[in-house]
Amino acid sequence: MRSLALGVDLGGTNARAAIVDRDSGEIVSSHKAMHQDRSPAAVVETVARLVLEALGGHGLDPGSFGRVGVGVAGQCLGRTGVVLCAPNLGWRDVPFGALLAARLAVPVRIANDLSTAAWGERRFGAARGFDDAVLVFVGSGVGSGLILGGRLHDGHRGLAGELGHVKVRPLRGGAPRQCGCGELGCLEAYTSGMNIAARVREELTAGASSRVLELVQGDLSRVSATVVDTAHAAGDSYARALWEEVSDLLGNAIASVVTLLNPARVILGGGVILGCPELRGLVLSAFEAKVSRSAAVGVTVERAFLGDDAGVIGAALLE
Ligand SMILES: [Zn+2]
Repeated sequence: MRSLALGVDLGGTNARAAIVDRDSGEIVSSHKAMHQDRSPAAVVETVARLVLEALGGHGLDPGSFGRVGVGVAGQCLGRTGVVLCAPNLGWRDVPFGALLAARLAVPVRIANDLSTAAWGERRFGAARGFDDAVLVFVGSGVGSGLILGGRLHDGHRGLAGELGHVKVRPLRGGAPRQCGCGELGCLEAYTSGMNIAARVREELTAGASSRVLELVQGDLSRVSATVVDTAHAAGDSYARALWEEVSDLLGNAIASVVTLLNPARVILGGGVILGCPELRGLVLSAFEAKVSRSAAVGVTVERAFLGDDAGVIGAALLE
C-alpha cells in the first residue's frame, strides 16, 4: 500500500493542497484556489476546503495522515504555528497553525514556503543526495531555504533562511529602499521582481531614458524584470546599470551564504533568476568573483527541478 502525506502551499495569491506519495514524491491529487478574502478565518476555510477536495476521491480523512504540513509565504515561528509576518497576505502574528489544526482536527506543522521548497528539492529534486544545500529564490519575493547536515534548518525560532531581509544598504547617509517587511535596505527591496518593477516605473516616470519604455509601448504597468532583461540583451545602458547593481547584490548574497555555510549545492529558483538569462549570467559571475576560494571548491549551482511543486511536496514531507 502507498504511504501518503498531506501538504499545503499557502501563497499570497493562491493556496494549494496536495496528497503526496512519500516514496516517490509524486503528487497523487491536488486542488488549488485563488484567495477571495485574505483574512485568517477565510484562508482557514479555503485551505480546509482544498484539503477535503484533495482527499475526496481517495476515501481518506485528514486524521488518517497524522499531520498536515503547510508552507507559508511569510516569516513563521516554526513549531508554534504562528505566522509572524506575511506581507502578501496582510498578516501579522496570526496563529494559523492552531486555527487550521482546530478546523481539520489534526496537528499542523508550518514552515516558510522556501524552507518547504528546499525540503522538497532535497527529497525529490535538485538537492537529492546532498546533505548540505541552499535554495536561493528570486521571484516576486527573495529568500532561501537551508538544508544542513541532511536536515531542514529552521533556526532557533523557525526564522532561518530569510536571505531577502539581509540588509544590503547602510541605514544612514542615503535613502535605503523600504521592504515589504517594513524594514529598510533589505536585499528583497532591491532584487525581487515586484521591487525591480516598482523601481523601474519610478525612474522612468522621473525621466530616465531606456528601451524598456519602447518594449512596454509606454504602458508602465507592463514593466517587469523580464522586460529589463530583454532591454539588457539589446545593449540598453539603463538596463545595464540596473542589472550591474542587482546582480552584484544577489551574487554577493549567494557568495556570502556559500562562504558561511559551505554547501555542496546551490539551487536557483524563482521567476526572476530563472526567467532572466542575462541577469542570471551576471549573478553567477558576481558569485564566482566574491565567494571565498576555499568554500567554492566542489560547489555546483543547479536550477530548481520541481518548480511550483517543490513547496507542497516539501510541506507534506516535513519532519
Ligand atoms: Zn525586508
